Amino acid sequence: DSLAAVSVQAGFGYALRLYRARLLSAGVSIVRDWPADEVWVHADPVRLEQVLVNLIGNALQAMTDTSDPRLELSIATVTGHVRIGVRDSGPGIAEAHLGRVFEPFFTTKPVGKGLGLGLSISARIVEDLGGRLEACNAAAGGALFTIDLPAGEVAP
Ligand code: ADP
Ligand code: MG
Repeated sequence: DSLAAVSVQAGFGYALRLYRARLLSAGVSIVRDWPADEVWVHADPVRLEQVLVNLIGNALQAMTDTSDPRLELSIATVTGHVRIGVRDSGPGIAEAHLGRVFEPFFTTKPVGKGLGLGLSISARIVEDLGGRLEACNAAAGGALFTIDLPAGEVAP
């Protein structure tokens, strides 16, 4: 296939550079909870970036009225796959909406702020890559999105 070993840290790096100015002006603290060594997933770099950009963009929008906004990015290797987490310290997702956020055109944002397509496209991308995208509310508060992807094989 056309997929290759892609560094998740590099994917997050791309998304963070893209949002750098907005993260700074919103005063968002970024917590990077990941190993020093690169973690590789079997993916397409541009599609992985697109998913991370969508999730971090949503996190930023969710934290516009949050004091001490905090973005926690995590990468962990679980047997055979890699778990990527994006957690914000915003209000989280209403119980009634948890089952709907991946529906195309589902949005709670005012006209012009969101089309409601980001998560449905992201879930589709992750599934095409052989993985899963899930949403929940984090125990510590805020929304937590978890991406599970097959681990990438790096040539020795
Ligand atoms: P959009 O951002 O255009 O609304 P998305 O598909 O990206 O569309 O997200 C759909 C909906 O899921 C959002 O309108 C919002 O209600 C909810 N959502 C997504 N991310 C978050 C988040 N980090 N915190 C709270 N709600 C979220
Ligand atoms: Mg969105």
